[in-house]
Amino acid sequence: MKTAMLYGGPNLRIEDVPMPLPGPGEVVVRVRAAGICGSDLHGYRQPRPDVTYPIRAGHELSGVISEIGPDLSGLSVGQRVGVEPMHLIGCGECSQCRRGDYHICPRRGRRAGKPVHSAGFSEYDLVDARNVFPLPDQVSFAEAAILDVYAVAVHGINRLPVKPFHSVAIIGTGAVGLTQGQVARAVGARQVIVIGTRDESLETARACGAADVVVNASKVDPVRAVLELTGGEGVDVAFETVGGHTPTIQQCCELVTYGGKVGVVGLFFESVSLDPRQAMRKEIDLRWVNSYSTWEGVREYQIALDLLAAGKLQARPLITHRTPLDRIAEGFAWANDKQRSGAIKVIVEP
Ligand SMILES: [Zn+2]
Ligand SMILES: [Zn+2]
Repeated sequence: MKTAMLYGGPNLRIEDVPMPLPGPGEVVVRVRAAGICGSDLHGYRQPRPDVTYPIRAGHELSGVISEIGPDLSGLSVGQRVGVEPMHLIGCGECSQCRRGDYHICPRRGRRAGKPVHSAGFSEYDLVDARNVFPLPDQVSFAEAAILDVYAVAVHGINRLPVKPFHSVAIIGTGAVGLTQGQVARAVGARQVIVIGTRDESLETARACGAADVVVNASKVDPVRAVLELTGGEGVDVAFETVGGHTPTIQQCCELVTYGGKVGVVGLFFESVSLDPRQAMRKEIDLRWVNSYSTWEGVREYQIALDLLAAGKLQARPLITHRTPLDRIAEGFAWANDKQRSGAIKVIVEP
């Protein structure tokens, strides 16, 4: 079968590898859609020193069950499914796993001591049967591929949490920011303000239901704008979804109200500075949002799927680009230069 091999940097090749074989408790999925994630782009921009190349990738995926391992019931060949990625599998035994928080299992994403992860940029992929979620007909494969991103947003709402009387600000207009905004509005936040730097993305944020109000931080001071929009108080909850080298955690602390909460969803790879004086004075809750698992016993992936299937989330406007597996390099180029391509989510269709 064909798969994309990533050699670090913009060096991607389509290669032949053996078909995966399902062991006990596993299924093989014929991949129909796999999203290119911001985290996939770090090694594309620059080979990562902590990674041994080549690697396979693609953890935002959906498809059709093509083979079922021994001793499994309740699933059938031909079934359409969304996939929770394999790197989120916990050990099942530690205290975090036992209370359902497998996303913070210290041995997460390992089996028999070896790291496991999904490789959706392939024709077929091996999945733990606990991580497949049957899709209702109205949810397309491309939409289902984004469920991984929506599940992170659901976890963000759970972590902070966001309540109906809360005003929410979100910094960032990428797929993470827009899904966070859509989920916040779907669960009934009073007001959602999305802050970005480009008018086109902010227009998309409004059009796809991610924002009640938008603020262009390249034109106005975002902190002042948020204060004005909230009667001088600041928002109850702010989500940082940009990461990288940005001063956005500090900005979130400036635009939340006294006793407000900040959720960090973006990925940071180095230290950031934070002025503790204001955070202390306002007694801000700073919370990290890392992946997802369960919310009061319910899988957060399933919560995202149910919201999408009920028409409360709009995944379609986020799918801006599609490419076949053979031309995945083009897809990565679009995803890597969002300014020029206008890409929000690029979907690879193997
Ligand atoms: Zn991702
Ligand atoms: Zn564990």
